[in-house]
Amino acid sequence: MRDSLTRVERDVIACERCPRLLRWCRKVAREKVKRFRAEDYWGRPVPGFGDGAARLLIVGLAPAAHGGNRTGRVFTGDRSGDFLFAALHRAGFANQQASVARDDGLRLLDAYIAPLARCAPPENKPTPQEIARCREYLEREWALLKDVRAVLALGKIAMDGFIVMLRRSSRLPPRKGYAFGHGVSHDLGDGLRLFASYHPSQQNTFTGKLTPARFDEVLAAIARHLRASKEAGDMKK
Ligand code: SF4
Repeated sequence: MRDSLTRVERDVIACERCPRLLRWCRKVAREKVKRFRAEDYWGRPVPGFGDGAARLLIVGLAPAAHGGNRTGRVFTGDRSGDFLFAALHRAGFANQQASVARDDGLRLLDAYIAPLARCAPPENKPTPQEIARCREYLEREWALLKDVRAVLALGKIAMDGFIVMLRRSSRLPPRKGYAFGHGVSHDLGDGLRLFASYHPSQQNTFTGKLTPARFDEVLAAIARHLRASKEAGDMKK
């Protein structure tokens, strides 16, 4: 049967490969935090979401315990999401800046968000084995998102995970290195460019390591690349 983003979403939600993460997601969903005491938490794996014809793929790390694991949508209902979607809205990649619930009307425009690991991990740290187990979903989305010309990796772990995925499919040479840095970008050939940013975690945004202006610069570079790519008629391979 032909794969589809809907099938990937269904398979992610039903996935039970990582007992440690599933236990954690359910525990957080049961115990909650005071400010969300009255809410029903999602408490399961969280699928990627966005525009099926996206030219921009955003790769994150994993859902947050009281963000995506509560609302069922990545970067939704937490400070990281507030930062990210406000920026995507400013850059024209989202129809609104508010991201508070799955049914809040948010639509991504020409963009798709996919986390490396789809379950909220303790201390926001999935193990390498958990990331490897979850890679299949990113691989399937990558195969289905045929129009992608730009990839934005949010943080070094996300960037490394994306590169590993491309190497496994022989899309990238096995040994060539790709340095991480905020604002750094790499030409991956055939019109595809990889952009790196610091992750919009509170640790980075509250300390000023990542500011809206610095993030906007990366999104502006992506928009320029997509414009140039459209003019050149680049096709994904
Ligand atoms: S992290 Fe990924 S592979 Fe592991 S249980 Fe969650 S969805 Fe499944």
